[in-house]
Amino acid sequence: MNRMAGTLFVISAPSGGGKSTIAAAVRQRVEGLGYSISHTTRPPRKGEQDGVDYHFIDKTTFTRMVEEGAFLEWARVYEDLYGTSLRGVRDLTASGADILLDVDVQGGRNIKARFPASVLIFLVPPSLNVLEDRLRGRGTDEERVIRNRMNQAMDDIRNCVWYDYIVINDRLDQAIQETQSIILSMRCQAKCRLPQVKRLFEFM
Ligand code: ADP
Ligand code: 5GP
Repeated sequence: MNRMAGTLFVISAPSGGGKSTIAAAVRQRVEGLGYSISHTTRPPRKGEQDGVDYHFIDKTTFTRMVEEGAFLEWARVYEDLYGTSLRGVRDLTASGADILLDVDVQGGRNIKARFPASVLIFLVPPSLNVLEDRLRGRGTDEERVIRNRMNQAMDDIRNCVWYDYIVINDRLDQAIQETQSIILSMRCQAKCRLPQVKRLFEFM
C-alpha cells in the first residue's frame, strides 16, 4: 500500500481557502483524476449530501474504524474528526488513477511521510480579510464556527512552507488553471511518462 501506480495529490488550505471549489473544478477538467470522499463526524452543512461531500458518521463509528485500521490517515480538525478511507484510495489506485485528496495540514504531513512521492498543493488566500469575507459569503457556518476557523487560519497558512506547491487563490480562474497545470506537469515528468514511451517504442 506504500507504493502507488498513480500520483497522490493533496490540496490543503485554511477553511474557506477554496479547496472544495478548486478541487471540483479541476476534477471536471482533468481526466483520470480520482477523488476520495472523506469520513467525518461533522454534521452536514446545508446542501451537503452523504456519500457525495463526505461520508457523515457518528463518533462511535469513526472510533471503530480507527481501531480497525480503516483510515489511511485521520485527524481531529477544529472540533471534529476527519479521515481518508484506506479502501477508497486503494480502489482508486488499483485502476492506476491519480488521486486528489482534500485534507488539513496534519493529513498532508501524514500522507507525505507515508507516501514521499505524493504532491502537496497549498492554497493561500490573498489576505485574511478576503478569507473571512469568503467564509461568511459561503453562508454555511454560524458565527462561532467562523471565529474558530479564522483563529486557526494563520497557523494553517504557516504550514505552506513545507508544501511542494503554493497557489494564491485570488482570481478563481487563475487558481484553477495553476492547480490544473501542477497536475498535468507532474504527469509529463519523464519518470511518469517513460513506461508509456517504452511500451510505444518497445525499448527497455
Ligand atoms: P474550503 O473548501 O477550502 O473550505 P470553499 O471552496 O468552500 O473553501 O470556498 C469558500 C467560499 O469562497 C465559497 O463560497 C467559494 O465559492 C468562495 N471562493 C473560493 N475561491 C474564490 C475566489 N478565488 N474568488 C471568490 N470566491 C471564492
Ligand atoms: P470542512 O469541515 O470545512 O469540510 O473541512 C475542515 C477541514 O478538514 C479542512 O481543512 C479539510 O481539508 C479537512 N479534511 C477534510 N477531509 C479530511 C480528511 O479525510 N483528513 C484530514 N486530515 N482532513 C480532512
